[in-house]
Amino acid sequence: AKEAGKGTYVLYGQAMQQHFDERMIIEKHLRNAISNNELSLHYQPLVDTASGGIWGFEALIRWNSPVLGFVSPLSFIKIAEDCRLIVPIGEWVLRAACRFIKELHTEGYEGYHISVNISVIQLMLDDFTDMVLGILKETGLPPEYLELEITESIFMESFEAISSKLESLKERGIGIALDDFGTGYSSLSYLKQLPITTLKIDKSFIDSIDTPNNMSLARSIVTIGHDMGLKVTAEGVETREQLAFLERTSCDKIQGYFISRPIPEKDVASWVEGRRA
Ligand code: C2E
Ligand code: CA
Ligand code: CA
Ligand code: CA
Repeated sequence: AKEAGKGTYVLYGQAMQQHFDERMIIEKHLRNAISNNELSLHYQPLVDTASGGIWGFEALIRWNSPVLGFVSPLSFIKIAEDCRLIVPIGEWVLRAACRFIKELHTEGYEGYHISVNISVIQLMLDDFTDMVLGILKETGLPPEYLELEITESIFMESFEAISSKLESLKERGIGIALDDFGTGYSSLSYLKQLPITTLKIDKSFIDSIDTPNNMSLARSIVTIGHDMGLKVTAEGVETREQLAFLERTSCDKIQGYFISRPIPEKDVASWVEGRRA
């Protein structure tokens, strides 16, 4: 039991205390992760379904802490958001990803796009738009090769402010993908108001495409997206059957272990060569 002032006592469960300690430890070590070079990016290919060619890559952050070992983004991104470390980390990710893809272009791998996950905390910053445009200028990557991945929950925060930022980036040619689509609560009329270019169907709809229900759901999402003038990407594609189905439904891009797992930066060029061969 812990005293919570004025003679009232609050009971903390042991699990809750443990959870809290874990967060503190992660936060403490994450604070120096950038300056200690503990962060890196892996790149997962996205394939253009119609041509079979590589459209580009999604940048996925990796953290190798000398103390904690490999920590999954699923366990540290939320913490980084809560303590706002996601601001410098997110900027580091965007810069590293744009720089890398520009390098690939320079080395003769032209035309590849890069998709970068953006947190709502970043989008709420007044200088978010300037930060993105600044990094494009600094790295020399033309805006049409950059796509930002956002989730529906972003728009729950401050719809007007966030929409206008995304709208101005979109006008410059940057793609805006709505990630994990289908897991949120957006109504279709709401969807129409969002400044986006792509719907990214959540893995949960792809998982059991062999069940008739999910099959028609995935098919409907592709149709709705196309009717709204959007491109549609499927994430989490793991089997030949899922791929074949998505090709039949004219889903524009696919991503998943069936194509490739996320690839460490140093191995990307050789993966591309291997696929071309
Ligand atoms: P996400 O954006 O939905 O990314 C897809 C996740 O699914 C990645 O996990 C990827 O490795 C995994 N994945 C891809 N294909 C398959 C598949 O075929 N089967 C299965 N089972 N999994 C697949 P990862 O890299 O662990 O990232 C987890 C989440 O962490 C991401 O989910 C994203 O929300 C977040 N995240 C990762 N990097 C960043 C980043 O740089 N910034 C922000 N804000 N969030 C990030
Ligand atoms: Ca994503
Ligand atoms: Ca996703
Ligand atoms: Ca997902």
